[in-house]
Amino acid sequence: QRALVWLRRDLRADDHAALAAACTQADQVWCAFVFDTPLLDPLPRRDRRVAFIHHSLTQLDAELDALGQRHGHAPGAVRLIVQHGVATEVIPALARQLRADLVCLNHDDEPDALRRDAQVREHLHAAGIVCQSFKDHVLFERSEVLTGANRPYSVFTPYKNAWLKRLRAHPEAMAPHAVAPHALALAPWPEDLGTPGIPPLAALGFEPIDDTLLRLPCGSAGARTLLADFLPRIDGYADKRDFPACKGPSYLSVHLRFGTVSIRELVREAWGRGAADNAPGPATWLSELIWRDFYHQILHHNPHVVGQAFKLEFDSVCWEEGPEADALFDAWCHGRTGYPLVDAGMRQLWQTGYMHNRLRMVVASFLTKDLGVDWRRGEAWFALHLNDFDLAANNGGWQWAASTGCDAQPWFRIFNPVTQSEKFDPQGRFIRRYVPELAKLDDRSLHAPWLAPALSLAAAGVRLGTDYPHPVVDHDAARQRTLARFGSLKPGR
Ligand code: FAD
Repeated sequence: QRALVWLRRDLRADDHAALAAACTQADQVWCAFVFDTPLLDPLPRRDRRVAFIHHSLTQLDAELDALGQRHGHAPGAVRLIVQHGVATEVIPALARQLRADLVCLNHDDEPDALRRDAQVREHLHAAGIVCQSFKDHVLFERSEVLTGANRPYSVFTPYKNAWLKRLRAHPEAMAPHAVAPHALALAPWPEDLGTPGIPPLAALGFEPIDDTLLRLPCGSAGARTLLADFLPRIDGYADKRDFPACKGPSYLSVHLRFGTVSIRELVREAWGRGAADNAPGPATWLSELIWRDFYHQILHHNPHVVGQAFKLEFDSVCWEEGPEADALFDAWCHGRTGYPLVDAGMRQLWQTGYMHNRLRMVVASFLTKDLGVDWRRGEAWFALHLNDFDLAANNGGWQWAASTGCDAQPWFRIFNPVTQSEKFDPQGRFIRRYVPELAKLDDRSLHAPWLAPALSLAAAGVRLGTDYPHPVVDHDAARQRTLARFGSLKPGR
């Protein structure tokens, strides 16, 4: 048997469902990644995600080489195949060229990916090549966790309870899919493919981004570094995770997104370190990993959420439109709303590609409830700029904040951006980092500079309207408009 493993959001060589399955079934196995032009073409030419993938593939190539050497291959013999083109054409052509009998891949449940994979499967089938697909990206997927009436869940807490019950009943779900013991099957580079190597970013049409600008540890090694840094802090996670100035969370989201770490490994760590006994830190962190599974199954069962409200009645909300709304949206995007915590969060996103979870909730609420701008515009901005952009989690997060989703924040509960700031960044340490023009303001004035005494502003060298904007909306008035906007639909209270 000859097998090709097509890697997509699973850029690692260990604990890998499709790779392990290929290595146990075939005697010759190759791994390939395609820089898929339909995905790459719409992206900006400087994109941290593409740079992250590129760095991670370089590591993966070396990891496969090392695995090959452990099984007697010469250094540099076992290599990752990287191609640039339309994946639906490249993969069937490559499988034929390798005379593969089998193509293995891991599930990707985004609607476009499902369409792409169905097309590839059809081409392979026509060529007599078997295609197998595996669960790898989440712990429990699709219809594995259902209600007693065999319906998908749309509320998180009962889903989480059922998820935990299933894990207790099936602890093997978190067992690794070990690759190393079967890596004898990894085959050397086929000479008819030309010279091995990963095309440079420039050849893919992207500008290089150097490591200091990327500020992201990449590949499996990067994920290991972040995990090793996080695990000693896991007990403090429940207390610290809401404060953006603290090193509370794991920062592993980009690695989960691209599969440079295995979800099974993270669940095992949380479970073994106390989540099984409900220890607050590990249990709270595990709960976040369960949110991730939750939103993936929501997308699987409700693909209409791409572009539409989960609860369709909310699609008749009249969002603000026109030049004034466009100007407000632009101020939000660029961290110039005059609300320091909102601006700090948006600038963190712009400068680093990451945004703290608390701030994602605050800025999403601000866009939809204070500015009255359609959540889909915010969702699209995040999709363009988040390193960890994930359709299921991003859509879930936006619909939660906009009150249009499953288990969402009720529409009449509206975050106050000033009290959020006072509560979660009390000394303004985070704000001062990202809004340096306010750095010298005293702690009290920092959260709402327009209320600061003129003397405090002068002492801090801040001229409102010149150095830093006046607030683009008045929160109390905006709140009333939002209550009216949603109230006119008469959704349940
Ligand atoms: P940790 O706190 O260390 O959490 C561990 C992991 O759990 C995360 O890496 C992530 O994979 C998962 N997770 C945590 N919170 C959530 C959540 N609420 N929903 C789903 N998974 C979660 N997360 C993304 O991965 N991609 C997105 O595109 C994304 N967009 C979001 C948009 C909005 C409006 C909101 C409110 C949240 C969004 N989230 C998204 C969820 C969350 O903000 C991030 O997962 C988290 O901030 C990533 O940081 P971390 O890895 O340090 O998280």
